[in-house]
Amino acid sequence: MQFSESVSDIGRKASYPDFMRTPKSNSIELQRRLRTTYPDARCALDHQDPFQLVVATILSAQCTDARVNLTTPALFARFPDAASLAAAPLEALEALIKSTGFFHNKARNLIGLGQALMARYEGVVPDDLASLTALPGVGQKTANVVLSNAFGVPALPVDTHIFRVAKRLGLSKATTPEKVEADLCRLFPRDEWIDLHHQLIFHGRRTCDARRPDCQGCPLLDLCPTGQGRIKDPHSGTKFAAPPSGRHLTHDPRPTSHSPQPIKPLRIISLVPSITELLVQWGLASQLAGRSRYCIEPRWIRNTVPEVGGTKDPNLERIRALAPDLVILEKDENPKAVVEALDTLGIPWLALEIRTLKDCVAALRLLGGHLGVAEVAEARAQALEALLKSRKCKGPRTLALIWRDPWMSSGPDTYIGDLLRQGGLTPVGPDRYPSFTDTELEALAPELILLPTEPYRFNKRHQAELQKRFPKADVRLVDGQALTWYLSRTEAGLELVRALRP
Ligand code: SF4
Repeated sequence: MQFSESVSDIGRKASYPDFMRTPKSNSIELQRRLRTTYPDARCALDHQDPFQLVVATILSAQCTDARVNLTTPALFARFPDAASLAAAPLEALEALIKSTGFFHNKARNLIGLGQALMARYEGVVPDDLASLTALPGVGQKTANVVLSNAFGVPALPVDTHIFRVAKRLGLSKATTPEKVEADLCRLFPRDEWIDLHHQLIFHGRRTCDARRPDCQGCPLLDLCPTGQGRIKDPHSGTKFAAPPSGRHLTHDPRPTSHSPQPIKPLRIISLVPSITELLVQWGLASQLAGRSRYCIEPRWIRNTVPEVGGTKDPNLERIRALAPDLVILEKDENPKAVVEALDTLGIPWLALEIRTLKDCVAALRLLGGHLGVAEVAEARAQALEALLKSRKCKGPRTLALIWRDPWMSSGPDTYIGDLLRQGGLTPVGPDRYPSFTDTELEALAPELILLPTEPYRFNKRHQAELQKRFPKADVRLVDGQALTWYLSRTEAGLELVRALRP
């Protein structure tokens, strides 16, 4: 949990109009929507007992929870309790927690914590605020996190996300976390504090981002003076554009037709970026136990879902430690050795091979059935099928390059090749992912050359270079995620390709 924002000036002289005095009815409605939107909201720090939680919370200062969760397994294996922590060699402890930042201070505090717990409480973490805050490294926020999550004591500790969200929603105009906490505690019933704490953090991470809040997709838009553009954003000082008239005024965050059925796997690791995004689109974010380092959308998962390495070389020890009940892979990207290793570890896996848009339709149904969201998956599969029916025209000879040095393309027998065909273009080149010399590239005589922004980061310089080499061709830079991310962005990819037709 980070608290890195400057809080001194935020909202200092803002004049808060009457509508910011959130009436009780608004706070009840706000709670209802948060509860429905984030049913999976929970403490993001992995822990087994109060001792592990207090240690993890100390480590989380100025560090992401995902990073802490990667650090604590080795830490607790070596120092499982207050007694071992009290006697920990400083250097060894520092080495174990180095990646969480500020490790010199944190290590000293952790050893002090272990010693104080041994001296005062026989190694047991106390369950009252005064005793907790008297421990080394434990401030009021850490103490409240421990009290609420480990002992079920109602508390509403304010971290950077809650601070920002509360002020944007007009729930508080205070300028310190402690005062915002007091305002929130006055507004909401005591027995809701623990859940509300997690829900507001989830909202801050997933929707109300510090720099790019998704106001148009926000379930709280009609309750939010900042999102409505009625006041300046207390976080950035800028005023957001008002939403289109009438938008969200009747927003209901419980769309029954999209409610997922109960899911089967509960701890999924996805090694496929577009599948990870799809799972989030289907409301399965809480089942994501891990992701590959390339799974970076939506942005908030980078801080909340642990990373397990790359696609070719996932960290199998980390995967095993996360105890998944399903790992999702793709045959083109993940080597067979990964599958064999998962077999050896007894971890269930599902490997997809997508070469056509019809494969996408089948994969949506397969995944939907497997993950317990058959209804929403079927709706998407049918919508995609309908898009495929309206194709057929033989457009320009199109070369989709995916790499440089050497040149590589995505050929006709690939997902991109079929996307081009379905969009009315004519993919050229050998099948699969061939590489070319300059001469071979010229021999293909493409009329349209696409330079996606990933996996290779093609840019305007490459575009100019190729345009010079192919003066008669149309050379275009295109959105790499729309072109290559199957399932989660197939519709966007089709739209992109169809817009390229002459
Ligand atoms: S409407 Fe915008 S600013 Fe308001 S809570 Fe939602 S995302 Fe945040």
